[in-house]
Amino acid sequence: MWSRQRLLACVETSCLLVLGLIGIACRPAPVQTPNVILVSLDTLRADHTGLYGSSLETRPFLDRLGRDAVVFDRAIAQCSHTVDSHMSLLQSRYPTRTSTEVATLAEVLQTHGFTTVAFTSGGLVSPELGFARGFDRYDSYPDVFVDSLPAARTWISELPDDHPPFFMFLHSYDIHSPFTAPASFVDLFVKEPYEGSLRPEETHVYQRHLLGLDPPSPDMMEVEWNAVDRAYFEALYDAGARENDEALGTFLKWLDGRRSWDWSRDLLVVFSDHGEEFWDHMAPRGTARPCTRNCCGCRW
Ligand SMILES: [Zn+2]
Repeated sequence: MWSRQRLLACVETSCLLVLGLIGIACRPAPVQTPNVILVSLDTLRADHTGLYGSSLETRPFLDRLGRDAVVFDRAIAQCSHTVDSHMSLLQSRYPTRTSTEVATLAEVLQTHGFTTVAFTSGGLVSPELGFARGFDRYDSYPDVFVDSLPAARTWISELPDDHPPFFMFLHSYDIHSPFTAPASFVDLFVKEPYEGSLRPEETHVYQRHLLGLDPPSPDMMEVEWNAVDRAYFEALYDAGARENDEALGTFLKWLDGRRSWDWSRDLLVVFSDHGEEFWDHMAPRGTARPCTRNCCGCRW
C-alpha cells in the first residue's frame, strides 16, 4: 500500500518542497497533478519519536510511515513560535521576511487551479492571524486533532470524480502544552505516581502559567526542578504525542483506498513547527532559545 513513498524531514527542506510545488503549478494543471496534504504536528520533538531514534512508543504509526518514505535527519525550525514558524514555512521565507505582501503556498496553488482547504485545531494558525489567505475553506476547531478530522474526511468523500487537484492543510495541537491527554494515553507513559516538586494537582496550573493563561501560586515560583519533574512532564507530553499519532494514523488509514487519493501520484507532507524545550536551555518549556529540533517529512 505504501509504494513509492518518501519522507522529508526538516523545515528547511519543506521550504524547498514549497518551491518545487510552485514550479509544478505554474503550468496548466494536468489531470495527473498531485493532490497535496500538509500535516502540521505542532510541537513534536524529533528525539521523542522512534523515527528519530527514541525507544518510546510515542508514534508507532509515524514510525511505520517513515520506514517506506524519505526521512530527513536534520530538521531545524526557522522559529520556535507557532505563528512565525508556520508563516515562514507557508511563505518560504525567514520569519523576519514574511509579510502580508508575500503570497502563501495556498494562494499560489489556488491561483493555479487547486482547491484549497484547511482543517485546523487548537488555535494560533487562525484566520485572524492571516492563515486563511488563499484557502477556499478554512475550518478552525478549538480542541484536539480528532475533532477536526471528520470534516476533512467528509470533504474528501464528497469530491466528484472529476475534481481539480486539492491542497489540504491539517494542523494539530494535541502535543502542545498544557498536556491534557486522556488517562488511557497517560497510563502508557506515567508508570509511577508523581512525587516531584509540585503537587500533582498543580502541574496543570503550572503549565497554564507557562503559557500565560493562569497566574501561578507564590510557592510555584520557588520550585527547584529535578529529574522527577522532567520525567513526569515529558511523560505527559509523550502521552499527547501518542494520542495525536492515533488520530493521524486513523485518518491516513481511512484515506488509503479513497478514489480521490492515489499514493503513486499524490503528496503527503508531515512536519512539526518546533520542538519542546524541556530544560534544554534552562526552562521547562517554550522559547528560551529558538531552533529546538523538530521533525518533519513528506511522502509520495
Ligand atoms: Zn507550534
